[in-house]
Amino acid sequence: MPLSGEKEKTIQFEELAVKDYEKVYKITDDSVGLKAIIAIHNTRLGMTLGGVRIFPYANFDLALTDVLRLSEGMTYKSAIAGVGFGGGKSVIIADPKKDKDERKMLRFGEAVHMLQGQYIAAEDVGSTPEDMAIIRKATPYVVGLMHKNSSGDPGPFTAYGIFRGIQSVLQKIYGSNSLAGKKIALQGLGNVGMPLLNYLFWAGADLTVADIYPHNLEYVTKKFRPRIVEPSEIHKVPCDVFVPCAMGGIINDQTIPQMQCKSIAGCANNQLLAEHHAEILKDKKILYAPDFVINAGGLINVAMEVTSEGYNPIESRKKIDKIYDQLLAIYDIAEKNKTSTHVAAVTLAKYRMAYEIGKRSEPPHFHH
Ligand code: NAD
Repeated sequence: MPLSGEKEKTIQFEELAVKDYEKVYKITDDSVGLKAIIAIHNTRLGMTLGGVRIFPYANFDLALTDVLRLSEGMTYKSAIAGVGFGGGKSVIIADPKKDKDERKMLRFGEAVHMLQGQYIAAEDVGSTPEDMAIIRKATPYVVGLMHKNSSGDPGPFTAYGIFRGIQSVLQKIYGSNSLAGKKIALQGLGNVGMPLLNYLFWAGADLTVADIYPHNLEYVTKKFRPRIVEPSEIHKVPCDVFVPCAMGGIINDQTIPQMQCKSIAGCANNQLLAEHHAEILKDKKILYAPDFVINAGGLINVAMEVTSEGYNPIESRKKIDKIYDQLLAIYDIAEKNKTSTHVAAVTLAKYRMAYEIGKRSEPPHFHH
């Protein structure tokens, strides 16, 4: 890729050929210790928008596997959410607590800029609004900044979508979406889990929670009096809904036989360690709300920021509300086709892409 000036000497772009992905770039700059990957999975419905994950991956291959899986997930998430974006994601191989600095983030912003809008950066695990502000110094292709036109913290919006998703599994199982007295086991009390707990408490749910940080548990004990279990026990709790809001891969060969829940509906990305785990859940009659459908609230909210009218939380809320109906439709498609809900959701996303439903009709407006 042609570069200019000082950057020409230092930023290295290497295009990696990956089947089924439009573009995958390995980006390095030894002068600032930058090692990153930007994966553009699919742009059929629009340019891509996805988070910048900063994580100390043990090696390059693990980072590549993660960014590929996450960017594909973004394609399906965006297609079903109808936000007019394709699927992209980036990772920076670094410990966000130790190895993150302004020069590295700025250089990453320059790399994003060189892609001329093919990829729009946003916050993700390990990155913050402050990091987005540094990236903004190098490129307009970034969202989730802290300014008056910004959409702000996505957590509460994602949490509202998860709440509606939990109602959808209850509706499917019991014919009523009431949470009163329903047993909910919530894993992870972070940016999403905490506001979600508030919704669940006021809806009358019977709550069990786990988190690895004692401080989070002390806070919720005072406020909501939930039952508290060890992090290693939360997926084993007999309950109506298990709500994973921590890390991915929680649905796997080891955990599934231990599960005593009727359904799973949470925000973590890539909850299934592998796709076939969705099939095992189906056979066990555990209703699974596909992660990339139920957790789209934050994406919907941030996409609202780049409409021509600018950010409007009320419009965001209306759109996030639809996650409830989208999930009910997916459960029906799965039932009719005798597939897992995950396969039904991917099929629906691919159908929307094939017929360009929800394709972006105007370029995004950046109100920075
Ligand atoms: P976060 O880091 O703020 O919160 C995660 C919480 O999980 C923390 O409190 C952490 O202590 C806890 N945790 C970690 N490991 C745990 C374990 N083994 N057992 C119990 N608790 C554990 O993250 P977040 O923003 O709340 O996001 C949670 C998940 O949802 C992530 O997988 C993220 O990718 C996904 N997600 C988040 C958003 C969003 O808007 N923030 C949107 C879509 C998807």
